[in-house]
This record gives sequence, structure tokens and C-alpha cells, in this order.
Amino acid sequence: MSSSPIWRRLSPLAAALIALSIALALPAAEAEQALSTAADPLPAVPEEPRGAVIEVDDPSRLALLESRGVDLAHWTEQTEAGATRSIAFVTSRDLTLFDQMGVRVLEVSDLPTAEELASQRMGNVDGVEVRERVNNGRGRGQGSTGKPAPVMEDGSLRVLRADTFTNYAGDFVSFEVRSANGRTDTVSVTYLDGGVSRTRNLTAFVDAGQYIYHRTPRAVRVDGTPAEVTISSADGTQLTTPIEPWATYDTMGYPEGFDWGFLTTGYPDAVDSTNKIEALAAEFPDLAEIIELPFETHGYRRAAMNLYGRFTNTVVNVESIADGHEGGNDLTFAIVNDGTANRALEVVRDGDDVTVFTSTNAAGAATGTAIAVVNAINASPASNAVIRAFPYRGNAGLGLAETDRGRAQLSDFLAAPEDKISREPQTVKAIRIGATRDGSKTGVFAYSQEHAREWVTPVVALEAAERLLRNYGTDADTTRYVDELDIFIIPTVNPDGTNYSLYDNRTQRRNMNNYCPDSASDSLARNAWGVDLNRNFRVGTIWDGYNGASLSCTSNVFAGPEPGSEAEIRNELWLTDTFDNIRFSMNIHTFGGYFMWAPGAYKTDGRVPLERPSVGIEEYFFDASQTILGKIAEHRGTVVEPTRTGPIIDVLYSAAGNSADDVWYTSVEQGRPIFAWNFEAGADRYTGDGASGWQTPGQFWPDFAAEGFDQAMEFANGVYGLLEVAAEFQDDTTAPRTAVSVTNGGWYSGPVDVVWTTSEPATIYYTTDGSRPTYDSPILERRDARDSAAPVRIDRTSTLSWFAVDAAGNVEGGYDPDGNGRNHSRVQVRIR
Ligand SMILES: [Zn+2]
Repeated sequence: MSSSPIWRRLSPLAAALIALSIALALPAAEAEQALSTAADPLPAVPEEPRGAVIEVDDPSRLALLESRGVDLAHWTEQTEAGATRSIAFVTSRDLTLFDQMGVRVLEVSDLPTAEELASQRMGNVDGVEVRERVNNGRGRGQGSTGKPAPVMEDGSLRVLRADTFTNYAGDFVSFEVRSANGRTDTVSVTYLDGGVSRTRNLTAFVDAGQYIYHRTPRAVRVDGTPAEVTISSADGTQLTTPIEPWATYDTMGYPEGFDWGFLTTGYPDAVDSTNKIEALAAEFPDLAEIIELPFETHGYRRAAMNLYGRFTNTVVNVESIADGHEGGNDLTFAIVNDGTANRALEVVRDGDDVTVFTSTNAAGAATGTAIAVVNAINASPASNAVIRAFPYRGNAGLGLAETDRGRAQLSDFLAAPEDKISREPQTVKAIRIGATRDGSKTGVFAYSQEHAREWVTPVVALEAAERLLRNYGTDADTTRYVDELDIFIIPTVNPDGTNYSLYDNRTQRRNMNNYCPDSASDSLARNAWGVDLNRNFRVGTIWDGYNGASLSCTSNVFAGPEPGSEAEIRNELWLTDTFDNIRFSMNIHTFGGYFMWAPGAYKTDGRVPLERPSVGIEEYFFDASQTILGKIAEHRGTVVEPTRTGPIIDVLYSAAGNSADDVWYTSVEQGRPIFAWNFEAGADRYTGDGASGWQTPGQFWPDFAAEGFDQAMEFANGVYGLLEVAAEFQDDTTAPRTAVSVTNGGWYSGPVDVVWTTSEPATIYYTTDGSRPTYDSPILERRDARDSAAPVRIDRTSTLSWFAVDAAGNVEGGYDPDGNGRNHSRVQVRIR
């Protein structure tokens, strides 16, 4: 008789209650003999994690915690004092580890219960009317220059950014300043706040022991928008610089008649997401099609298992040979002492029921150890066709096997309804949207839910897809994107993990591929398996020595057995490889409100990053961020902060083997750069409460109707912003123009530092020996993280030759760097 999945889920608890009653019934002496250690009994079910806010002194410590198996969210926050906070999902083991490692635990709270979250699944949320259109913005109108803040420099100080923005709560400022005096300098900023001069100290940002710069860790609320800021160093240097508007937007809301807000009834599982894109493709066959990705996932499936016994040295772990749904779930197991004197250990199987009769002495008392039972099961033809056994987590298993504890039901502990969630390997699907899908249009690739527990992310993807199809022909921007672009969207990269997160273990981040040896494959470890797909890529990997992944199979940043091992990431790579018109990508995650790009990994020793994109490309990234973040803000005034916008390593942490790095560096190598970005949707909300005033709403599982829906809508806006950037890129035929800080033919009395200004973000290739500049010539390099270009020093009379090329490949003055012409820019600099 087959049992219901819910019954199976409860079975370990029932077993524990039986165990408890047996333990209480045993006379003390006999209990001591049977259980040769005095340790606490093992729990009956995996321990429920709780959410903890933790604090470390150096952010690079976070990767060390992850390598020790601590489960961290993406969110971090630097405190005014310079420490770094993160959110961890912890068990008692982690709290002990924190104690040993000097990690400060500020707060521990319960996560939403499985029952609460079940009510958030698609179709379970009461039909909240959330599609009302708003147009009540207090945006500042046009004004975004799209340019990074001008770099101001004086004495020991260089201003990297001085920004102001207006969100739903009011006006804010944000500053980043590099001091030549390093981390110990006291750098302060003075600006007008509500007409009153206010001074505050900036915080040194130090990572992997290296000084990066000083900053306001979180944007600071001000009354009114100050026009300028005066920055001071302890050495007396003082400079005043304008504050630039950041991520400006016109008004909140949507154009009249624009259709949006399609998913209103909760978070989709992987089947819901796939059904949705298939329905859209069927409804709009002229505009969309489904692409079946070639690599099937492992499947929402695994062996059935259980453990017999209560203590580390007495436990016999039993695991089915066939996966649970293929018969494993029907199996039961027991160890019995039938009281016969001098019995030899014997394994008997009756259909689905395996019984081990333990060995006994002359008095009929059990003598079989756990390891003896394990070995007998594995050796016996009676049992080894259906089950295998192993001791608990590498224990020698020398305790007496516990007997007569009833029959243990083996289970895969998978609770999702079988009539909806298949246990078979899954074909991951993408929807391709565009009026012309022949590879001639600029391709854009948006993909969600590499991390299963990021429930908001498929809603972002599905909403963007549906907006494109339902507003085509009525909304001018939408029509332009569909006509001019070739858009690929995967709502859920990781269907198996997603289903596991929605139905079994809400904190599941990884896929369902268990690479653990027996020592970590007992049923109590069942929520600790799988590969972190955003650490399994091939560039900047843990195998290459980069920071922020783990080779431990139970770590939540487990990189897998080798780079690119997982079907899910091979699907992504296949897509960007196959459709070589793709020039933009967006890897959609939650939470924290970030907008990021390469490099995403560094080697801890010396904090050596993957090669930073050229200054021009990074300016292009920043430039595009203004369009994309402004679009996000239009939904409800959420502005992603400047300190959360930039290269992953500079605004979040190092993540070895992540997908955006693979997309960027691989495509650059292939000579067709894909501008690869990451979203972390779920921006903090400014409430004024707490030390920084910023609060995290709902972590990975915000209440759908009250918060999750809006998070999805605003980052679906962000996808529209990305499409705008891509459409502008496709139409861009305007070449950049440049000017230099020296006069052609001018005389200079000593070495001179040359700097360039450009009409748009552009990469500058130059020579100083009079030769033609080519794509092999030196490029203008950045001075440091988030910094401006380093000047080129000319110390003897030279001809400086250069050309500029923008992100779309337009070259200044129509110059052909691969040709023979000499129509590049040049100046002669004469040094006395
Ligand atoms: Zn993620």
C-alpha cells in the first residue's frame, strides 16, 4: 500500500516519539550498555534554520564562513564603524562556530514557517487587487546626465562619487572618497541638510585587509537636495565638489493603457513558470517561441532513506537503491533481536521489508554492532539489491546496533504533489520574444532563479515577458523592443531546487544533485546537498584560487565536482553560445537591491581581481545603470543605492565561478562582448529605524501581496531598462569624440600628465612612439576600484596617437584600427 507524501514527511517524527518511549522504558544499566556514548540523541528531523544578523570586521571573512558551511544571504551592510553585517540562516552548529570564530551575532529570529509560506504559493494568495496604476511620483524630472560623477582631486583626496537621489521616503546623499593617507585617515563631508550645515565622518571600506576607499556605507537621509559637498582630510586637505543626481526618473507609475501586474496570486513553482511561458508562446506565436534547452536536470528526486538508532555510534543509515518514487519509498527496515541464544547475524527480506536479526550471546542479548549490521546489509544478496547501508557521518559504528524500534519507513522526504511536480529529469525552457528572431537583432538574455529560494525572481522574468507580449502594438517602447531586439528569458534556471524550496526546504539555494559521500548523506543532512549553480561556472573559479566558493558538498556555496559540471549552467552557456547575437545579459537574484557587473571574484591574497573592464566599458556600465535604475524607481520610488551599484567585488563580495563573470570574460575572449549584469531584487526599504535607517523586507520570501509583488514589478521595470539600453546600443552609430589636456605642438617645462575627456563612455587605445594605434595598443587604465583613468605621463618629446571606441564598436573619426589609414587622433607634446 502506498502512503501519502505527508505521512512520509511525518514519519521520522513518529519514529522519534517511539524512540523516546523505548529509551524511557529501558532500565538504566541496560541503556548504558546499549548506548556506549552518553551523547545527546540525534534529532529526529533536520534542524530548522533561523535567520541571524551577524557582524565581522573584514568582509572577506564572510567567504571563510561560507567555506565552513554557513549559509549567507547576498545582503551585506557596512556599519558606520567599518564592520560588515550579513544575514545568515543558522543552526545551533553555526552559532557554536560563530562563537569560536569571533563572529558577532546581533539578532536571531525565526523564519516564516513552512505553513505560512505554503499560503504564498501561486494560486493560494487571496486575490489582492494590486494592478491599480499610480501616478503620484515626486521625481525630479529629466536631468540624468548618464555620466559618472566628475572626478575631483586635491592633495590627498580624490572624490570617486558624490550622489544624491530621491526615493519614496525623501532625499538622500551618498559619498565615496579615496584618501592617499589610507584607512586611518579621518575623512569628513560637510553639506547642507535642510538649510543647516551638517558634517559627518565617512567610513573606511577595508576588504581582505586592503583599503578600498572611504564612503557612506548606506545612503544618508537629508532634507532637500544639497548642490555641493566639502570634503576634508585629517591632513588639512579640503575640496568642494558638486553633488550629481543619481538614477533620476520622471514620475512613478505606468503610461496610460500600459498593461502590467499579471501575476497576482503568489509565487510560482517551476511547473507554474514553465506553463506560463508556454501559454504565452502559444498565445503569441508570431512574437514568441519556446526554446527547449538541451541539458536535462537531475530531477526533483532522490533515494529513499532513513536512519535506525539514536546515537552517532549506533546509527545504521539505510538508503534505497532505486529512487523513492521508483520503489524506494515502499521499503521498510528493522533490526530485531528475536531472543535466540548464540544467533548469527542474519539479513532477511520479505518483499519491501528488510529485517536484520542481530547476533546474540549465550544469554540471548544482542551483540551486533552498527558496523556489523551495515556490512551484513551491503554483503547480503537478500538486501543489497534494494538497499545499502552506512554508519553515521564517518563514525566507526562500534556501538551496539539498537534493536526492536519498530519498522522504519524509507522515504525520499519529497512532499510536492506527484500529480503536479514530476520526479523525472527536467527540460529547462526559455521563451524567445521578438518580431524578427533570425539572429539579426541584438540579443538580450535575462535569467532567473539559479538560486532556488529566491522566489521573487521568476516573477520578475514572467512579468517582463508578459508585458512585452501584451503591450506590443500599443505601447511605443514595448513595440520598439519587440521589433528591434531578440529577447531570451529563462524564468527558472533551477527547476528541481525551486520545487524543493517551495515544497520541502524553503532555504534551498542549490540544485538537487547530491555529490556528498556517505559521511554526509544521512537523511538528517538532506537539506544540505546540491551544487551552487552561481559558483559552478568556468571563470575565476575556486579551482583557480578565487575567493567565495567551497569544495565542501554541504556548503551552500558548493562549487560542484568541477567547473561547468551541472546541466543547469550548461544550458545557460549553450544559450549564449548558440545565439551569438546576444550582447546583453541579466542574472536575476534576490535580495538586497544591488546592480552589479564584472569582476565578481578576486584572489584573497592581495585581493587580486579578475581583470577589470576598461575604464570606458565601466563608464558604459555606470551609464547604463542610470537608465536601468531610473526605470526600477518608476514603480514605487525604489532607488538602488550608488554604493550597491558596481563591480560585484566592490559592492558585495567575491563569488568565485559566478555566471556573470563567465558570460563577460568568455564573450570578450570570443571578440563579441556580452554586457553581463546582475540584479539583486528586493531592495532594502528606508524606514528610519535601526542604525542605518534601512530595513530588509521579508528576505527571500517577502509576503507576496504586501511586498513580493512590488519587488517583482520594480525589477521587471529594470528588465525594461535593460531592453532600452540594448535598443540604444543596436541603434548607436555615433562615434565618440575625445579631447586631451595638452596642446598639439605645445612646449612643456617637464613631464606632463595627459588626461582625456570623451563625449560618451569609450575605451581609448594609444601609442607614444608615433606608431598607428591598434586594438593591441595599450588602453587607458583605471587607477583603482571605482576610480577614474590614470593619466598617461609624457616625459620626453613624443607624438601621442590614439583612438576611442564606444561600447557598440563605433570608432572615433571613422578610423579603422585594423586597416592602414592614419586618420587617428594625435598630438605632439614637446618637453624642454
Ligand atoms: Zn542568488
